[in-house]
Amino acid sequence: MLLSVHATVGAIIGEQVNAPLLAFILGFISHFILDIIPHGDEELIKAYRNDFKNRGMLYLIIFDLISTAGLLFLLFFFQQISFNYTVIWGIIGGIIPDFMVAIHEISHKHFCRTHKVHYWTHDKLCHTLNWTMPLKLGLLLQILIITLLILR
Ligand SMILES: [Zn+2]
Repeated sequence: MLLSVHATVGAIIGEQVNAPLLAFILGFISHFILDIIPHGDEELIKAYRNDFKNRGMLYLIIFDLISTAGLLFLLFFFQQISFNYTVIWGIIGGIIPDFMVAIHEISHKHFCRTHKVHYWTHDKLCHTLNWTMPLKLGLLLQILIITLLILR
């Protein structure tokens, strides 16, 4: 799922609790729960696994990083989310599992267990439903989720 979704949920969690460590842990757990929802990147991940030079995944990651930074800036700037340590730790907890995946994919040795759990949750519902969500529909769904979260 896009980092924007994980970051927004992590920030909202951070606003609801008053301890940075709790915000981090709940944000971290929220990542795996959100990833269960089919979100359209399954085909890209498969393509990337078969060909590590696949540009689709790289473009999605670049888009994701830039849009997440932009979204967070706007949310803080327009005071949709308070700017404090607890919110920041909620955001970090929400997005860190994907950075652990990236480190694992590059190193092939760090965060092996987290990587397994991550992909188990990531693929669980798609495998159960035997259905892969198209990327465009997945992106649309995630933009809708972010919009609903911001307008809450
Ligand atoms: Zn993830």
